[in-house]
Amino acid sequence: MDQVLNCAESEVRSYCRSYPATFSAARGSHLVTEEGGQYLDFLSGCGSLNYGHNNPILKSALLKYLAADGITLGLDLKTTAKNAFMEAFAKRVLVPRSLSYRMQFPGPTGANAVEAAIKLARKVTGRTNVIAFTNGFHGCSLGALALTANSYNRGSSAPLLTGVHRALYDGYLGPDIDTADILRRQLDDPSGGVDKPAAIILEIVQGEGGLNVASRGWLQKIAAIATEHGALLIVDEIQAGCGRLGRFFSFEDYDVVPDIVTMAKSASGFGLPMSLVLLKPHLDVWQPGEHNGTFRGNNHAFVTAAAAIEHYWGEDAFESEVRRKSRLLLDLLTDYCDNRPFQPKGTGLMQGIDVKDPVLAARVKVEAYQQRLIVELCGPFDEVIKLMPPLTILESELIAGTKQLLSIIDDVADAAICSPQSR
Ligand SMILES: *Cc1c(COP(=O)(O)O)cnc(C)c1O
Repeated sequence: MDQVLNCAESEVRSYCRSYPATFSAARGSHLVTEEGGQYLDFLSGCGSLNYGHNNPILKSALLKYLAADGITLGLDLKTTAKNAFMEAFAKRVLVPRSLSYRMQFPGPTGANAVEAAIKLARKVTGRTNVIAFTNGFHGCSLGALALTANSYNRGSSAPLLTGVHRALYDGYLGPDIDTADILRRQLDDPSGGVDKPAAIILEIVQGEGGLNVASRGWLQKIAAIATEHGALLIVDEIQAGCGRLGRFFSFEDYDVVPDIVTMAKSASGFGLPMSLVLLKPHLDVWQPGEHNGTFRGNNHAFVTAAAAIEHYWGEDAFESEVRRKSRLLLDLLTDYCDNRPFQPKGTGLMQGIDVKDPVLAARVKVEAYQQRLIVELCGPFDEVIKLMPPLTILESELIAGTKQLLSIIDDVADAAICSPQSR
């Protein structure tokens, strides 16, 4: 059976190679296989399932909507579900944060949102160059891929990936060199070789690139550089947003207001495809239908997104809960790395361990899977073990799963020392 299925699906498949079981159900923080095996999920659909699998509050809202024959595909028609989402988003997310954005619904993937964002920035400024950063990940369609740094992803289309200047992310040259100063110097210098940018796009935490975190000072400098040079600041919230860092938006603690924000992954909260571009109202120079797409009105996603916002973002309790869990995870990981040659990475519930050795990291991922724990790797060499549980995970599950993973790392590292030839 596996043989048949493997031949049927393109070689491009990837996660199913790492986690080869056939999964048939999922609840909360667990995936369940056809045989009934339970796996603790520290991947959460790459951050698309921040409220857990089949979250009962979101599910019951959706079931009720389906039972009443609510609209499924709405193009960009006004619908009850879309109106309710926009109202909830404005009232519970934007207004309390004094943010004034218009919402654009592009096609439902993250890459769609990124494409729309850079297209708009180019249209607004009349410039083409976009500044993106080392280790940045913004998706795999051509425009988004041009912004994505990873050579493995870029390989097939490299010569077509134009219009982007690659700048150095915070910390790229170590703690003593401020890479924002380098970018400023280059842009200030008419012979710096960097064309006037339409936009600067970045992630607050680089989810695929190794859980590098932008410091407050660095981000504020980048925002100032954008303003000085007439470029728009785009924050790609797709992975780090929707509460992952303990606030709804990843940039909230930075005192920076992006011109454009891209959201996807956990925007619907239920794993349904949905993306969103937030743009400052004066940037809304789109002509009707100029950036189009059939699947811009996934109303099931609007229903679950609204339910998630109403339930989790109406008050501060959920934020405090996520931040408590984040501190717990931070303590476990820093304690662990203290007397080992490893480095804790990331922040919020988007943390990990740089084990400095891709072979070790790969073995840990395999062994974790054997022990029914799903973890993914990230970083330029896949040397960072990434922990991205649902935000709703029970504290007891978070502690137990993390401790289990840490002891797996020790076991695998010890075994590797015993048999160096096998590394
Ligand atoms: C996943 C991701 C994207 C792309 O989203 P898709 O839905 O896979 O197209 C873009 N930016 C970031 C930061 C992401 O994590």
